[in-house]
Amino acid sequence: MSAAVVLSGGGIKGAVAAARTAKEHETIFVHINYGQPSANREIAALDALAPTLPKSRVVRIALPYLSQLRAAAPDAPAPNAPRDTRGIVGTSISTSSVPPAVMRGLMPVFLSVGVQSALRFNSPKVVIGLTNTDDAAHLGLPVADSPPDTRREFLHAFNIMTEVLLRPRFAVQIEAPLIDLRYAEVIKLAQRWHVSLDKTWTCHRFGTHPCGVCDACAARTRAFGEAGLVDPAAAPPASAATPAAH
Ligand SMILES: [Zn+2]
Repeated sequence: MSAAVVLSGGGIKGAVAAARTAKEHETIFVHINYGQPSANREIAALDALAPTLPKSRVVRIALPYLSQLRAAAPDAPAPNAPRDTRGIVGTSISTSSVPPAVMRGLMPVFLSVGVQSALRFNSPKVVIGLTNTDDAAHLGLPVADSPPDTRREFLHAFNIMTEVLLRPRFAVQIEAPLIDLRYAEVIKLAQRWHVSLDKTWTCHRFGTHPCGVCDACAARTRAFGEAGLVDPAAAPPASAATPAAH
């Protein structure tokens, strides 16, 4: 059984992509820490998800230089400024209130790390669980205005570049098996494949429970609603944390 690299931040889409991949491959979750506040929580999610697959492990890649750039990035949107979401990694970076700044165009970095990981582990493919059809809607944009780096043509171009880079000795293919699905459809697939959604982490913030209000939490809540299912990892209601007085 050959290995396959799955780029994941511990969310639902990565978990479902991994479940699909695990039918044919040893699954190597590759997590990239680029200084996002939720990084350690994402890793904890992957550490919990990996044992649920037949043969799986987690590899952590830290890119501290991106943290430096993040701290210095000048393009954090003003609180009330219209959102310009072009170039933002659709499933990995919030466009709203996550401090300190939005970082644009990281997908090539992620995919390059994925390709290098594939070479390291003799994997013929890099799997990424992004979707395109509804990420635009989640960002309040027409589908045609979806983030460029979540589109098929972007991944196709990256695959051509990778082929030129590696041939003739190596071949690594980037695959996005969920790209044409809506988030709600991915959740339904997860249910059908018995993916442990309770172990996933989507929130852009760090905490014991998801914040429930960031872009990622809001998109997740909408998708579960659209799917007609209950989120097993939803934040408990505020009242649930307080014992009832008698
Ligand atoms: Zn959140």
